[in-house]
Amino acid sequence: MKIGILSQNETLYSTRRLREACEARGHEAVIINALRCYMNINSVQPSIHFEGNDLTGFDAIIPRIGADITFYGCSVLRQFEMMDVFSVNQSIAISRSRDKLRSLQLLSRKGVGMPITGFASKPDDVPDLIKMVGGAPLVIKLLEGTQGIGVVLAETQTAAESVIEAFMGLKANIMVQEYIKEAGGADIRCFVIGDKVIAAMKRQAADGEFRSNLHRGGSASLVRITPEERKTAVAAAKAMGLSVAGVDLLRSERGPLIMEVNSSPGLEGIEAATEKDIAGMIIEYIEKNAAKKNRRHLQHQ
Ligand code: ADP
Ligand code: MG
Repeated sequence: MKIGILSQNETLYSTRRLREACEARGHEAVIINALRCYMNINSVQPSIHFEGNDLTGFDAIIPRIGADITFYGCSVLRQFEMMDVFSVNQSIAISRSRDKLRSLQLLSRKGVGMPITGFASKPDDVPDLIKMVGGAPLVIKLLEGTQGIGVVLAETQTAAESVIEAFMGLKANIMVQEYIKEAGGADIRCFVIGDKVIAAMKRQAADGEFRSNLHRGGSASLVRITPEERKTAVAAAKAMGLSVAGVDLLRSERGPLIMEVNSSPGLEGIEAATEKDIAGMIIEYIEKNAAKKNRRHLQHQ
């Protein structure tokens, strides 16, 4: 097969591993920088050009679209979809997952457990917003944050009010969330492919820190997850419409609670923690599913 990897940087660990895994299984891998693609949108023969060449003959695309280029990256991926190329994750599911509010709304509609969460832009009654989500301690998050930046723990009502007012002053959209203390600064990353959790790791925050992000000094280790956690992670990926997803959950007294669902989960931490060939499993998923799609397509012609 000819597999395109939509990635801005071919030296990134995940991109390198996916290319290696493609080649190890006898496929051709082409790394495509979405920002440098230009497209012809027409009803007869939509096309995509990259480095002066027409991008044709692809059997599948693995989108690894950075959060900073979601809009254009998803447009390029959509163009491949218009050309009937199989994508590991569909553009619509990726753009959905990049909006934290929309993601939580979708998850709640499907009855997936999550911390009690409030959203606000310019609340006219901050104490009532705080009361609505159960009072301090609270976690306050900037909607646009990643890698733990813009996630603050406010231990008291006064601290929560000041932080919310400060973020409001910056005209930022915020999320106000129940603090899951019993998680003990740890979260579980479940790597979902298709309808299975194929690997899981526990990330533990550094001493004195509640954010477990590896970028914030957290450390990763292998973990065994419960059947309920497995079921919740798969349900979350499904609610978002993602076939490959990194589902982050917190262990709470009332069971697993979803924090976020990532549509381009990194491979480095989880491959190191679990010693599994996750890149290879993604290619295997493509082999099974792209072929199925292409067969269906032929029958319809
Ligand atoms: P980001 O998208 O920046 O990674 P997250 O929402 O994942 O932001 O939060 C970063 C980290 O903070 C999480 O991995 C988790 O360890 C901790 N955290 C976030 N929300 C909560 C919460 N409601 N209760 C307890 N810990 C939390
Ligand atoms: Mg996170």
